[in-house]
Amino acid sequence: MRYYCREKKLADYANYLTYRVCKKIRICASVLHNTIICCILYVYFLTEEIILADIIISTENLTKVYGGKVAVSDVSLQIERGAIVGLVGQNGAGKTTLIRMLTGLVTPTSGSFKLLAGQKRADSDVAAIVERPSIYGGMSAMDNLTAQSILLGLSVDKSHLARTITLVGLDPNSKRPVKNYSLGMKQRLAIAMTLVGKPQLLLLDEPTNGLDPQGIADMRELFVKLNTEMGVTIVISSHILSELGKLANEFYIMDQGKILKRITADELKNVQGVRVRLFVEDTVTALQALKDAGEAKICGNNQIMLTTPLPITQVMLTLAQAGVTVKNFTQAGDALEDYYLEIVRSAHSNGGNL
Ligand code: ATP
Repeated sequence: MRYYCREKKLADYANYLTYRVCKKIRICASVLHNTIICCILYVYFLTEEIILADIIISTENLTKVYGGKVAVSDVSLQIERGAIVGLVGQNGAGKTTLIRMLTGLVTPTSGSFKLLAGQKRADSDVAAIVERPSIYGGMSAMDNLTAQSILLGLSVDKSHLARTITLVGLDPNSKRPVKNYSLGMKQRLAIAMTLVGKPQLLLLDEPTNGLDPQGIADMRELFVKLNTEMGVTIVISSHILSELGKLANEFYIMDQGKILKRITADELKNVQGVRVRLFVEDTVTALQALKDAGEAKICGNNQIMLTTPLPITQVMLTLAQAGVTVKNFTQAGDALEDYYLEIVRSAHSNGGNL
């Protein structure tokens, strides 16, 4: 009997130990499980934050209506930090209104937007040139930049201001009142004014208006420098598509207030590489002959725009065999302009949509 009791006690003790060990294992497993979940959530939110922080402009159904006239319609876009974005569109397409809304000069009728991922920012983080730049005609360039620093609530850093004036190709030591500057010099000064606060984002509505070809090239160089060396994101509207094509790495084509298309410079290059404009007498026969040569469209009187993987000699041979006389051809000169015209035409022939 005594022997039995001792056995039972040992068994109970063993059970007790097993119970304790199992309990500990359960606790450890539960802690491990919760730690893993916390790690996963942390990584998820961190990644989310990094992705969001990389979106410098985000708009959702941004719309502006002026007395019944829709200037900007349901624009939703996301622009990444570090991009140079070209806004393209004919007069009245809504480019200025979009930029004005982003700068806060115009209140959207509906929709919303976020700049710099909604992070709290200083006024100087976003700078813009929208239409006529505000400069004080009676003052020198340096005094204008000094006034701008004060307006932005920044301490006046004369050496930064002098560097900025030099950067845009003006003389920081000149005492000349800026009202006597040429239009191009005023444009350069306006750009210098936007750089006073070392902005992260520049919104520029036709900033090269009035500049001579050298001035335009200088400004392009400056914008590339600001972007590559200082990480400034630039949104720029311009009608000089050949210039915009050299500068931007992403384009938004606007028409009647809407974004018709977004295309990157790389995508555009792929399209451009094989684009030929053919001037023919008989577009219908030419179109029929080119049906296996790629994508061919009639684009204006006696003109065919062909996107093809074939060499041009092969295209000519195909047309000659079909009895089509080719009066002339151009290998797509300006990729952006051709692409823009094609997109807008195709939208117009389709009731405003692509
Ligand atoms: P452009 O290339 O000529 O500068 P845009 O693409 O910048 O043209 P917006 O200036 O944004 O076009 O104009 C878009 C439409 O909104 C136009 O039809 C214009 O007449 C209208 N619009 C712009 N501003 C106003 C305003 N303050 N009041 C009324 N209508 C306006």
